[in-house]
Amino acid sequence: MSQQKPSLVDSIFQDDEQEAFRDHIGTVDSAGKRIWIYPKKPEGFFTRWRDIVSYVLLIVLFGMPFIRIAGEPFFLLNILERRFVLFGQPFTPQDFHLFVFAMITMIVFIILFTVVFGRIFCGWICPQTIFMENVFRKIEYWIEGDANAQRKLNAASWDGTKLWKKSIKYILFYGVSVIIANTFLSYIIGSDEVIKIITEPVQMHMGGFIAMLIFSGVFYFVFAYMREQVCLVVCPYGRLQGVLLDRDSIVVAYDFVRGEPRTRIKKNKLAETLTEDAPKIGDCIDCKLCVQVCPTGIDIRNGTQLECINCTACIDVCDAVMDKVDRPRGLIRYDSYNTIAEGKKRRFTPRMAAYSIVLLLLVGLEIFLISYRSSVETLILRTPGMLYQKVDENHLSNLYNYEVVNKTNREYQKIEFKLIEHDGEIKLIGKEPNLGKSGQASGSSFIVLEKDDLQGQKNPIYVEVYADGELIEKVKTNFMGPIK
Ligand code: SF4
Ligand code: SF4
Repeated sequence: MSQQKPSLVDSIFQDDEQEAFRDHIGTVDSAGKRIWIYPKKPEGFFTRWRDIVSYVLLIVLFGMPFIRIAGEPFFLLNILERRFVLFGQPFTPQDFHLFVFAMITMIVFIILFTVVFGRIFCGWICPQTIFMENVFRKIEYWIEGDANAQRKLNAASWDGTKLWKKSIKYILFYGVSVIIANTFLSYIIGSDEVIKIITEPVQMHMGGFIAMLIFSGVFYFVFAYMREQVCLVVCPYGRLQGVLLDRDSIVVAYDFVRGEPRTRIKKNKLAETLTEDAPKIGDCIDCKLCVQVCPTGIDIRNGTQLECINCTACIDVCDAVMDKVDRPRGLIRYDSYNTIAEGKKRRFTPRMAAYSIVLLLLVGLEIFLISYRSSVETLILRTPGMLYQKVDENHLSNLYNYEVVNKTNREYQKIEFKLIEHDGEIKLIGKEPNLGKSGQASGSSFIVLEKDDLQGQKNPIYVEVYADGELIEKVKTNFMGPIK
């Protein structure tokens, strides 16, 4: 029986030895010591567009805490005081279910997006990549120069130049970390509070000041020292790639069909290498520039790897190489494994369809829940441990506790309760409550009903809640009567 010859794809990607690179990460040597990555500065079409997208996102990130809608911040996640504002709309802990659905929707969206477009989020939107590659790395290139200059500087002895360059770099790194820390704090406690912490005496805001120092220290540690390790060993999204990606996902991929066998060519020998009777050579000239620009230190020609953050640097550098050797661009490009290996057209897989349906249902449910979200939420419950009271021969009363939560940034001067479906009366103890912006009010009241109206021990009753004369919601509670 004749043995089937392994295909080019198999020979490159299913050989155990070829897969050996997956047994370790490229940033740690055999002794377990960290290999510091000095990526060459990338240039090109994708790098330019990523720069533009990054700067727009940075403006949004740093500007958003200062945006106000009707006096409310545009976005606030004050976990400490349980105050949440999204798009200028306050949300209370009573809206927790909306957050849960929003989180589930977001997770499904990320899964679907990853199944279809791979790790594109990491390269274009992730704050870690944006800060690392477009802020900190740019500072580093500006002060220390490109990869080789950085290597040389690190290996050099501590003279005046090295001391000066390193000091300036780390001072700037810390300065940017402080700005990032303050911005993140603004999303938690609000920009007004952060400005107070910065401008008022330290002893007035000791807690906030310490939080600021801790945040700044963490960001400095992440961007000055941890760097790509965050993507490789800390980020849970990165570690999920193995289960999210399939052979139809679009990733930054090396076209091994076109590129192999790799052949080193010299510039002035290009013409003779390409003669008709020369053996077939792949388009990859094995210049290793794609490895040198990679911020996570991998060789994309080995195939899709967990470490790839889709930063596109290898696409740009390889395109520049292809231009130089007069071959078509796109040897490394956004594409799926199946398209490259089998020349198949991209298809919408059942997995993608299933995720899309779930996503649409969740988005629909979220929109429904948000549009039917009441602006005031009321809870009326019988006071625990109390029985009914006899008012006169024909009437009984129950004592209730009520709580009204204002989920808007409007103020309500008067909250009123009206009994419906029963003849009776609601007697508030004290004044009618008012509600400040995102405020809440609580109190007690008696509800008096006619004895003849009661069915037995447990009688469902309904109360309408009016805020400044406007019907806000209808609340159900129970009235306790004698056993019949
Ligand atoms: S940059 Fe392109 S040509 Fe150079 S080694 Fe990488 S894939 Fe091959
Ligand atoms: S393999 Fe390419 S896209 Fe992936 S991280 Fe390295 S340079 Fe960026």
